[in-house]
Amino acid sequence: MTQEASENKGTIRVVQLYPRDMNIYGDWGNALVLKRRIAWHGYTPELLEYNVGDDFPEDVDVIVGGGGQDSGQLVIQADLLSRGSTLQELAEDGTPMLLICGMYQLFGRFFKTRTGSVIPGIGVLDVETHGTDERLIGNVKVESEEFGEILGYENHSGQTTLGPGIRALGTTAKGTGNNSSDGQEGARYKNIVASYLHGSLLPKNPAIADFLISTAVERKYGSFTAGAPDDRFAVLAREHAGRRPR
Ligand code: GLN
Repeated sequence: MTQEASENKGTIRVVQLYPRDMNIYGDWGNALVLKRRIAWHGYTPELLEYNVGDDFPEDVDVIVGGGGQDSGQLVIQADLLSRGSTLQELAEDGTPMLLICGMYQLFGRFFKTRTGSVIPGIGVLDVETHGTDERLIGNVKVESEEFGEILGYENHSGQTTLGPGIRALGTTAKGTGNNSSDGQEGARYKNIVASYLHGSLLPKNPAIADFLISTAVERKYGSFTAGAPDDRFAVLAREHAGRRPR
């Protein structure tokens, strides 16, 4: 399959945050899906990595961040805090972002781990997370008004509660999501989609990928015209994931 766009309607630059330390349960797949679908829509993808100590890239169109062990979150915390105001400005300005699990937690106010250490977040999202002794593991199905049925896999001990300044991504029809009490999954704020779901998320949920891409294109070029993505594998993956037991 060709990686390149057959026509070039412009470049879309995707930055992956901390792929070295925050990238578990296939989360890298989210960046690969964006790269492929950007090309399918006729634009040229540029995929960049940002790791601890790097210079922060210019002209960022989309940001993706994956999950991580508590230890990985401790490794990146100081660097992330040092980039807090840049990421805050990008978020408030409407940059589309996909934040999974560990990065979702750290874009919130704080993550207090099971062992009691408090990892401060950058406070872009009005959420807080408390580690518990209960591990929430398994397949998840979420109902979202915006994206329809969202399918994925969760594995976390942190439980997240949303503050008044933010809404959930959806409600769980299978699995746990944000916490074991309110039936909500993920968060939506500005053009940020935050979620506990790995798997990775975007191969099975192209509606979310296209939201991120079309938003990025509209912000940069004024309007978005869709190409003709090949959704055969996404359809199969959704059928398969939908049949899995919890
Ligand atoms: N370490 C965090 C937790 O267990 C995040 C895990 C993850 O990213 N899957 O809650």
